[in-house]
Amino acid sequence: MAGFLTELSKGLVNPDGTPAVRSSVLPDMPPQVLCYERADDIGFGVSGVVTRARGLRAAFPDLEPKQIPMAASVTEEKVAYLLDPIGASRRSWALRATDACIRAFKGLAPLEHEAVELPWTPPFLHKNDGLVLSMGQFMQWAGAQIQSTGTVQIWPGTPVASPLLERNQVVGVRLLDQGVDKQGLPGEGFMPGMDIRAALTVVGDGPVGSIGQQLDEHFGVPQGHQSRDWAVGMKFVVDLPDDTRLKAGTVLHTFGFPEPEIFGFLYVHPDRIASLGIFVPSWFDSPVRTSYRYLQHWMLHPYLWRHLKGSKLRSWGAKTLGESGLRGEPRLAGNGFARIGEGSGSTNVLTGSGVDEAWTTGAQLAQAVLELLKAGKPFSQENLEQTYVKRRRSSWVETEGRVAEKSRDGFQKGVVRGMIGMALAGLTNGRLTLSGEPIPPYRRVPTLENYYRGRIPAEEIARLRKECAIKGVSLQGALMHRCGWPSIPYDGQLLVSHQDALLLGGKVQAPPGYADHVAFLYPRLCAECGVRICIEVCSGQAITPGDQGVPLFDREKCVHCGACYWNCSQAHPENPERMNIAFRSGTGGLHSAEN
Ligand SMILES: Cc1cc2nc3c(=O)[nH]c(=O)nc-3n(C[C@H](O)[C@H](O)[C@H](O)COP(=O)(O)OP(=O)(O)OC[C@H]3O[C@@H](n4cnc5c(N)ncnc54)[C@H](O)[C@@H]3O)c2cc1C
Ligand code: SF4
Ligand code: SF4
Repeated sequence: MAGFLTELSKGLVNPDGTPAVRSSVLPDMPPQVLCYERADDIGFGVSGVVTRARGLRAAFPDLEPKQIPMAASVTEEKVAYLLDPIGASRRSWALRATDACIRAFKGLAPLEHEAVELPWTPPFLHKNDGLVLSMGQFMQWAGAQIQSTGTVQIWPGTPVASPLLERNQVVGVRLLDQGVDKQGLPGEGFMPGMDIRAALTVVGDGPVGSIGQQLDEHFGVPQGHQSRDWAVGMKFVVDLPDDTRLKAGTVLHTFGFPEPEIFGFLYVHPDRIASLGIFVPSWFDSPVRTSYRYLQHWMLHPYLWRHLKGSKLRSWGAKTLGESGLRGEPRLAGNGFARIGEGSGSTNVLTGSGVDEAWTTGAQLAQAVLELLKAGKPFSQENLEQTYVKRRRSSWVETEGRVAEKSRDGFQKGVVRGMIGMALAGLTNGRLTLSGEPIPPYRRVPTLENYYRGRIPAEEIARLRKECAIKGVSLQGALMHRCGWPSIPYDGQLLVSHQDALLLGGKVQAPPGYADHVAFLYPRLCAECGVRICIEVCSGQAITPGDQGVPLFDREKCVHCGACYWNCSQAHPENPERMNIAFRSGTGGLHSAEN
């Protein structure tokens, strides 16, 4: 949304302050622009971020990293394959054979700190001339510039509940009801959500946005499109030790550990600060895919621990990424509305890039809006397609999105195949890929008994399940321990319990008077669900075992990451593209402007 508002705010007024485009209601003013943000401030999102920053530099041609807190130019990029120093990860025979060869023939691939750094990084992964940023700090910087133009009002802490639909047109939005109980029923101080009517409603609500979901339900999605590729990203922002050798602008990417499917990143900001984390992708078929515990094991890998030992947690966060790219593209425009950003299928999974693409689609829409306003044309589907969609189709976002479209399909059938498929797509500009059908979790995720067959007997799983339910905790700790994952040596500053991370790494806010935004749609399905993966994946430990098998949701711990929404292991009875969990509009979440 920041890309849209930056470009639009610059075009609404002339250099002398007079309106470049006039409001039809108040002709001495430019049209009114309102932006509603559900989080308590701008910049409370979560991202890496390393970016080539093409779109950002187009918006700010004089951009210097030192203008933005925590920004640095990319100075060094490395990709490392991490071996398993513990012997607990679930590796295929192909990967075990690779590891054995690496250990046996050290001269072929230099093995240091249980890792092999790739001697060459393919060009499609390079972030040449790019930037390392903090999403929070960059958004606050960009937000201040947008607001200083006086043309845009930004309303944080104001969730939009739904689009206002009249026939086949979006005519504005309805804000969320306040003064309601957890189920949304009116209580003391009830204030129904206000209706805001608008000539154009711009939807940039990210990968789990409820407004986008409602538009998809109403208007449908283009034939063959689906959003079955996603990943849960979890990150720490840390103070590196005083004597760190990591320089600002260093970019490390890893794969192979803690599980072969999990990718890791470490980006270094100025002043010895680093952002680091992992992605747990949709094709990882473990029914206990916890991000938090895996993130800790990843940090403890010798390749990373030599840099991280002595570090201190500053901030923590989690968020899902929509990784379907062009295949997840919804209807980009209709009468009275347009979609931008990750929720519009802009993220490029081949280059590992989303911020620049999201920004650029917003800027393209702003140019289209200014063109239509100046021509006095309405925001009809036809006009938006001829201006916004046309710009998008002819831009690098689309061209590179086409290259990336099938690049990760190989991962559906295994990690080695996935890596080969990605390299093929990247090196041939998408002409060659390896096939694999993205499938939803209810078809992918096996039962605990099947997943751990040969490692943990079914009777023991049943016993552990019972014990964990009595304690009201998830199962992953007990199962991972049983598979050989060691306990985490808590040090109170970097290696801390999940609950302590919620306190040390930010603060979860859940203002009273709002309905629960996570809901279990069909309790019967939860009661019958043998996996209850929503409990295992929950980034904030906000979902716990409940009576009769139906999980409990605690809004005061929810960081709005959306992991439960994507991971639910039961299909929605009426819509096979959806699961048995609803992720609705809600306020609150994690307070940290560093993520
Ligand atoms: C851990 C992690 C690491 C990443 N690393 C990188 C990286 O290194 N480089 C890169 O380029 N990309 C990276 N990405 C991806 C990148 O962050 C996203 O592609 C990008 O943030 C998408 O921007 P967006 O504005 O479309 O969506 P979002 O950033 O999700 O923003 C959507 C906004 O809409 C608000 N919203 C949602 N619903 C409502 C509602 N109902 N009412 C009001 N407001 C609402 C949300 O609060 C949010 O602020 C990473 C992502 C993650 C999670
Ligand atoms: S929400 Fe989904 S994963 Fe969780 S218990 Fe219910 S059906 Fe199972
Ligand atoms: S309940 Fe909240 S914190 Fe937990 S997975 Fe769902 S969105 Fe994330």
